[in-house]
Amino acid sequence: MKKLEELGEFGLIDRIKSQTSLKNTTSFVGIGDDAAVIDQGSHYSLLSTDLMVEGVHFDLAYHPLKHLGYKAVAVNVSDIAAMNGIPKQITVSIAISNRFGLAAVDELYEGIHLGCEAYNVDLVGGDTTASRAGIVISVSVLGEVTKDKLVLRSGSRENDILCVTGDLGAAYMGVQVLEREKQEFLANPNMQPQLENKSYLVGKQLKPDARMDIIHELAEKGVVPTSMMDISDGLASEILHLSKASGNGFTVFFDNIPIENITLETSTEFNINPVVAVVNGGEDYELLMTIKQEDYENIKGILDLTPIGFVNNEKMNWLVLNSGEKTEIKAPGWK
Ligand code: ADP
Ligand code: MG
Repeated sequence: MKKLEELGEFGLIDRIKSQTSLKNTTSFVGIGDDAAVIDQGSHYSLLSTDLMVEGVHFDLAYHPLKHLGYKAVAVNVSDIAAMNGIPKQITVSIAISNRFGLAAVDELYEGIHLGCEAYNVDLVGGDTTASRAGIVISVSVLGEVTKDKLVLRSGSRENDILCVTGDLGAAYMGVQVLEREKQEFLANPNMQPQLENKSYLVGKQLKPDARMDIIHELAEKGVVPTSMMDISDGLASEILHLSKASGNGFTVFFDNIPIENITLETSTEFNINPVVAVVNGGEDYELLMTIKQEDYENIKGILDLTPIGFVNNEKMNWLVLNSGEKTEIKAPGWK
């Protein structure tokens, strides 16, 4: 038997998937997309869940609990958006150690309620338990989509246009900034944090938003992407998921990827190759989608949606750098 660390996160999920069979005909899509798809006859229900563990996904030294609550909702909603769906209900489960008081729980739920307002979802249940150490937050989300609008990871066709929402790399640089401030604070507790011009990066890391705005805009323009997913683990990793799901290869032009100036400036300041921040850095929670060529005219009016590549006919995944140099996009290591 392989060791867990050899398998990696995605290898482990593949293994679980291979040991799973679906019994109910209503289980239309199971493990392997951003959300499960349940056939309700008249429409599909979408179901997804995400776990956030203190010390793994967040550090309370710099992550305010209110932001954390909001983020827990947003990252779940993002998986519903990735199916072209509309989120409706969430449940929230928390495990919390006695290191935290009532005020901390209130702060967390203040953020959760703000998230529910922002995405028009209802908190309808959950579970509460003690933990030996730290906080664990698990959110599940239920959404829906009409049958003609469902978008899976697998639907791309050759020559489709690859598009991304927003800009990439900011959340990754945000966590670098926060880590540096934490180290400096630990060395000198009287120091004031130097975050003034980094607020965009820090905001993207601490309080990301799900791109429901884009889902609504696509609907207004009558465009249904051929495939879609959200970017939680980094562009390279997600390209490989879209590629595996569809059997197609993708060509991505680095030059076309939207990157904020502050992301580039900060990557220089930190001596981090911007390609690493933008292509491998995760947690952007932007949407990555393919659209048919004939839909290009229709999406032009969506300002925050940018073509960055296309579905090639080589069944291989390429990143074309500004210099014209072509490198193969390969699987990242264990996370
Ligand atoms: P995302 O980043 O979009 O939340 P993940 O990479 O966490 O997606 O999960 C990919 C797929 O694997 C999803 O369909 C998810 O439901 C499924 N999955 C992840 N972990 C498990 C698990 N422990 N058991 C069953 N399915 C899982
Ligand atoms: Mg996802």
